[in-house]
Amino acid sequence: MNQSQTGKRVVIKIGTGVLARGDAGELHHAMIARLAQAIADLCHSGHQCIVVSSGAVGAGVCYFELKERPTDIALKQACAAAGQAMLMHLYEHQFSLHRLKIAQLLLTHDDLENPKRLKNVNNTLSTLLGFKGIIPIINENDSVATFELNVGDNDTLSSKVAQLINADLLILLTAVPGLQGPDAKDENDIITHVEDVDTVLSYAHDDTGKLSVGGMGSKLLAVKSSVSAGIETVIASGFAPEQLGDIVDGKGICTRFSAK
Ligand code: GLU
Repeated sequence: MNQSQTGKRVVIKIGTGVLARGDAGELHHAMIARLAQAIADLCHSGHQCIVVSSGAVGAGVCYFELKERPTDIALKQACAAAGQAMLMHLYEHQFSLHRLKIAQLLLTHDDLENPKRLKNVNNTLSTLLGFKGIIPIINENDSVATFELNVGDNDTLSSKVAQLINADLLILLTAVPGLQGPDAKDENDIITHVEDVDTVLSYAHDDTGKLSVGGMGSKLLAVKSSVSAGIETVIASGFAPEQLGDIVDGKGICTRFSAK
């Protein structure tokens, strides 16, 4: 646990499949309201929360009335530029209802690899976290990142951020309740605890939504990286944000990966 506060420092990654309503990409206001309430409850009980949010490209797809996530880079970047603004507007409104402020960081691969830029990111995040009641909200800077520059998916980005700020816990909120074993009977039949992520890497079957990027495969790679860095990591359903408090307390319905 971090020394500077009584609660935990928690990075919460929220996937597009949770934030968007169906395949159209339209931001799910009611869902975002529930997520904001649950995250606010964590903050008010003494935890520090950092959100890594997807949803920008999906929201832009809906805004421009496109039929699917574009493959054309310029169009995808235009979607991200429009969608990111809508996303932050919603977060700002929802968190303000709980007396919380937000701050936006948009990062590229370069910001995390170049030592000088990484130091700047770290300084900004530490300064933000020094304030009470501010939630940094991070996304990939999709409107400028091209193939060579992008991190690729927000699972990886959230793992890197968690390591950078020395988080106590990384929670990957997704559209399923956790990781399923090969003999799972239904969606709720999940593995509750994993000691060694290498033993379950083959369980990932990647069925991402039309607008999502990272599937279970990218999540497990992100998990591997964060647990190796000593950060306990959880995969849980974003559709049940009310259990976030339980998850932080070591309970809840989720797959929990022990830190090494
Ligand atoms: N940065 C992308 C977005 O905001 C999502 C990437 C991801 O979900 O991994 O739409």
